Amino acid sequence: MSKPLILVLGDQLSHDLPSLQALPDGAVIALCEVADEGRYVPHHPQKIAMMLAAMRHFADELRARGLRVHYSALDAPDNTQSLVSEAERLARHYGCDEIRVVRPGEWRLWEAFKAREAGPLPWRLLEDSRFYTTPEAFAAWMRGRKQPRLEHFYRTQRRASGLLMEADTPLGGKWNYDADNRHPLADAPPLPAPLRHAPDAITRDVLELVAEHFGEHFGRLEDFDWPVTRAQARAELADFLETRLAHFGRYQDAISDEAPRLFHSRLAAALNLGLLSPRETCEAAEREYLEGRAPLNSVEGFIRQILGWREYVRGLYWTRMPDYKRGNHLEASRGLPSCYWSGDTELRCLRRAIEMTRDHAYAHHIQRLMVTGNFALLCGVAPQALCDWYLAVYADACEWVELPNTLGMVLHADGGLMGSKPYCASGKYIDRMSDHCRHCRYDPKRVTGTHACPLNALYWHFLMRHRDRLASNPRMRLIYAGLERMGEAKREAIRQQAEAFLEGLACETAPRWAGGDQAHQHALGYRYRESSP
Ligand SMILES: Cc1cc2nc3c(=O)[nH]c(=O)nc-3n(C[C@H](O)[C@H](O)[C@H](O)COP(=O)(O)OP(=O)(O)OC[C@H]3O[C@@H](n4cnc5c(N)ncnc54)[C@H](O)[C@@H]3O)c2cc1C
Ligand code: SF4
Repeated sequence: MSKPLILVLGDQLSHDLPSLQALPDGAVIALCEVADEGRYVPHHPQKIAMMLAAMRHFADELRARGLRVHYSALDAPDNTQSLVSEAERLARHYGCDEIRVVRPGEWRLWEAFKAREAGPLPWRLLEDSRFYTTPEAFAAWMRGRKQPRLEHFYRTQRRASGLLMEADTPLGGKWNYDADNRHPLADAPPLPAPLRHAPDAITRDVLELVAEHFGEHFGRLEDFDWPVTRAQARAELADFLETRLAHFGRYQDAISDEAPRLFHSRLAAALNLGLLSPRETCEAAEREYLEGRAPLNSVEGFIRQILGWREYVRGLYWTRMPDYKRGNHLEASRGLPSCYWSGDTELRCLRRAIEMTRDHAYAHHIQRLMVTGNFALLCGVAPQALCDWYLAVYADACEWVELPNTLGMVLHADGGLMGSKPYCASGKYIDRMSDHCRHCRYDPKRVTGTHACPLNALYWHFLMRHRDRLASNPRMRLIYAGLERMGEAKREAIRQQAEAFLEGLACETAPRWAGGDQAHQHALGYRYRESSP
């Protein structure tokens, strides 16, 4: 009988993880904190602290179940600081004859593990059963589809899961209630106070360690209050269901100058770490509707994010990698604007989204898509530069979910797999959905002149730059008709306004790696391919 070393990664902290079932006698479970994973992009200190604290708590829970656990702490003197070498060192140390690991969240690690399958100390890769779909099932769904769309996938998922279904019919008669979900905050009820998780001794130790080792990374550690145990994650879910879910749908797209979270769940990080399962989360939300505590538009909207989008992006990631990561349909080549690290910009909407990200390692979806994302899209920021930033700065960031959202949904760099058209928007959109503009030195109604909102000229400039690719898209025809009606003199004024802005925009010419040199990043599979023009 084999004696396996079970490697549990930092985003696999679930007691029902396939590799933790039916363990043979003598199996050793290993959890490893390694510097390589903390530094391949400059992760936000709160993100690192959340993962390490959750790993340490999870290791204690496994020990309490009587399992044999080896925990490699980041500052242990014999730690080799890379996942592959550390797992193999421990396997040899404990006399194990194979290493078992569940599919990781990144292609980079998947390739590194696969390469060892036939080695003298064989690695065995297991499928991750914690999702609604597997990459194989998604690939089968994709086969023969020229234009895969979330909506079609989502309906398949609803039928398969039975969530919000009565036989083959969606509850309420419609699959999607998005049309009810676009209210600005003006008529919203007061925001509920957030549930806070006071750090215990384990978490306090981690916070000190992270401050010491990763304190130079972008992001504040002071207000850390992420759930780091399953019990805390369950409490966070219960609090969301009780205090926010009912309003989630209606204000899902709203943005506030003051409050980052609004009626969003802030559950992505716990879901991605494995502290909560998508099934229990969706089923709990469904119960709120069935028992009359939350309206259908909110519950359907919330379930669609998890059952639909979360599974869809994971499927795309695993079926399209590694080519997906090289996508650059719009041939964007600008470096990341320096203000993404400093917050130093007069565009109030952008500045507040970056400041909230710095303070909380969190920004809600519309801030990511329509503020930091839209600005980068309009400016032509290179996919790799922007993806590395998103991967670094959010507590919930894992490549399988970050990459399709950034490269596909925000930058349209996958040529339309994630969205049939780019989500480009002018200042008018931000003005409608937020209260930022009233605090801004720019005027969202002006397109040219010193006080004009820069997003307005950038928006039209983006459309002019990409006319050849986008004008024939049926969903863009009205917009291009508007551009035609403007007349050449106005278009020229807009062009000059946008180009003057872009010329003055400070951008990086190389990535801001916090640790390691570029050769090291390259070895890890990351490469900065573009620089500012
Ligand atoms: C540029 C960009 C980068 C992103 N990077 C990540 C990332 O690294 N990790 C991540 O989990 N999400 C990412 N998202 C998706 C989404 O923005 C976050 O899941 C969400 O903002 C997390 O906050 P929340 O938990 O309060 O979400 P809520 O608004 O409460 O939504 C509920 C849940 O639905 C899921 N979800 C919602 N939207 C998406 C989506 N578009 N794709 C996948 N799952 C979704 C999440 O699990 C989330 O917790 C990204 C979106 C964009 C536009
Ligand atoms: S005026 Fe423009 S730059 Fe300023 S907050 Fe509004 S949309 Fe953003």
